[in-house]
Amino acid sequence: MGAKIEIKKQEVKGGIYDSIIIGAGPAGLNAALYLRRYGSTCMILTNPEQPSQVDITPFVDNYIGIQDVTGAELTKMMAEHAKKFDVEIKYEKVGDIKKENDNFIVVSEKDSYKAKTVVIATGAKHRNAEVKGESEFLGKGVSYCATCDGFFFKDKKVAVIGGGDSALTSAIFLKELGCDVTLIHRRSEFRAAEVYVEKAKQIGVKFKLERTVFEIAGGKMVEKIILDNWEEFDVSGVFVAIGEIPAVEIAKKAGVKVTESGFIVTDKGQMTNVPGIFAAGDVCDNPLKQIITACADGAVAAFSIKKWLGAKK
Ligand code: NDP
Repeated sequence: MGAKIEIKKQEVKGGIYDSIIIGAGPAGLNAALYLRRYGSTCMILTNPEQPSQVDITPFVDNYIGIQDVTGAELTKMMAEHAKKFDVEIKYEKVGDIKKENDNFIVVSEKDSYKAKTVVIATGAKHRNAEVKGESEFLGKGVSYCATCDGFFFKDKKVAVIGGGDSALTSAIFLKELGCDVTLIHRRSEFRAAEVYVEKAKQIGVKFKLERTVFEIAGGKMVEKIILDNWEEFDVSGVFVAIGEIPAVEIAKKAGVKVTESGFIVTDKGQMTNVPGIFAAGDVCDNPLKQIITACADGAVAAFSIKKWLGAKK
């Protein structure tokens, strides 16, 4: 049993939050939790159309202390934990962050909100494979989310494209759901953790390595996949899981510096080049993109905000 801590309601003085967090994935939720525990006020705005990458992860077995959990279950637990500390999560897409004197105005599609600091924890979106038929068959057999759409392909043949953790966890999930799964990867080495590769092999996922997809073809729905060596095979579904692109549109508009590949540059305290704007999680230029590192970024950002606001008083 943990110690009983009195949880106070937020008192947002003058309608100005200490921080507004954009994004309700592990980075944003943990930033909110830490801010509240430091006695700071905050709220989260999140795009209802963009689930966090964790939300679409079939299972997570590398968040220490928590076993046998789906990505969606884990973020739900995290959101409940943050809400216990009176964190409000509003499902509104943010379009702009503007500076007004010492504060920021965060403009969503519904309203605008004032804060002394902003945490950008907008995560990343799936990357398209850019192959023939991919966009044409989107929702007609092509999917980027095995946990969302896998059920429709129970007992059917599917292909998963990619060689990272997303592709391997999706392949395992689909196989365990009862699909006949072929994983297509452009190299013979995997980025995915060895445990996932081993598990996939053990449960009978088929592999086509050193192959790329040339075309996804069919009639009204996906019917087959054509590889770069002209090999064809029948599938009803194609799951594309080839990595992510950082969601940095709002950050760039606000003058936040990004790397050549588009990830936000921060200092050790997660502050960006724009004083008062912090960033956390997969949207940042960090070497490891995991739930645990996203959470850690959020905690560090909250700690830095507390220090930064304290120094300004
Ligand atoms: P990754 O960047 O880790 O892997 C992407 C994979 O797709 C690579 O194997 C890459 O090939 C391949 N690829 C990239 N572009 C193309 C293309 N155009 N055509 C064909 N193949 C392509 O992305 P993931 O989405 O797998 O993972 C993102 C992050 O999320 C990682 O940090 C991962 O560890 C984490 N994650 C963790 C999970 C867990 O632990 N439960 C679950 C899911 C994700 P190549 O290797 O040749 O570059």
